[in-house]
Amino acid sequence: MEKVILASRNKGKLEEIKAILQKFGMETISRDDAGIPTFEVEETGSTFEENSLLKAQAIMDVAHVITIADDSGLEVDALSGAPGIYSARYAGENCTFEDNNRKLLQELDGVPEEQRGAAFVSVITMLFPNGEKLVARGECRGKILTELRGEEGFGYDPLFMPDGENRSFAEMTSEEKNRISHRAKSLQILEDMIRERDKN
Ligand code: IMP
Repeated sequence: MEKVILASRNKGKLEEIKAILQKFGMETISRDDAGIPTFEVEETGSTFEENSLLKAQAIMDVAHVITIADDSGLEVDALSGAPGIYSARYAGENCTFEDNNRKLLQELDGVPEEQRGAAFVSVITMLFPNGEKLVARGECRGKILTELRGEEGFGYDPLFMPDGENRSFAEMTSEEKNRISHRAKSLQILEDMIRERDKN
């Protein structure tokens, strides 16, 4: 079975990607299980695409097998796309999800509902040893609430209500969120791309 190493340490992402690649006869393993030494990849890119490629390339450089990495974040219309690639550290280095949510609420203080549009973005890069790459971008549009709602999920979930829903991501079960999320979309697009590639 062809091996694929996932650059992320997130168990949820591993399970989701594993399920898809299995369909194509590929076995996904985490970087820890692959015995990749612990090192942090500096996310010096200016786009989700660049950062996911940096992470995939860093693992490729030591493992020389197919690698997959993802990068994601929240883009808020009224903030010209911020926090974007800085979503994890919006309120500063070593900040918590609560710090980030507090900062987002402050930045949007007084912004009316119709101007609170936003999108979660997920970019997945699958890199092959010959340099070929598949890049899949998924987006989930919605709006930023004026107060935290719900206890599920992580990150900005309590402040994000997807379009067409009346609950925040944090008020949904993980199954419900995973059906409509930015990551669900990028994974679906990646799956389509692999199927197309296999045809050739
Ligand atoms: P990463 O790409 O997993 O490092 O995610 C970057 C940051 O984007 C996270 O720390 C969260 O702040 C935010 N983020 C990405 N996806 C989600 C999501 O599904 N819900 C809430 N926050 C998210």
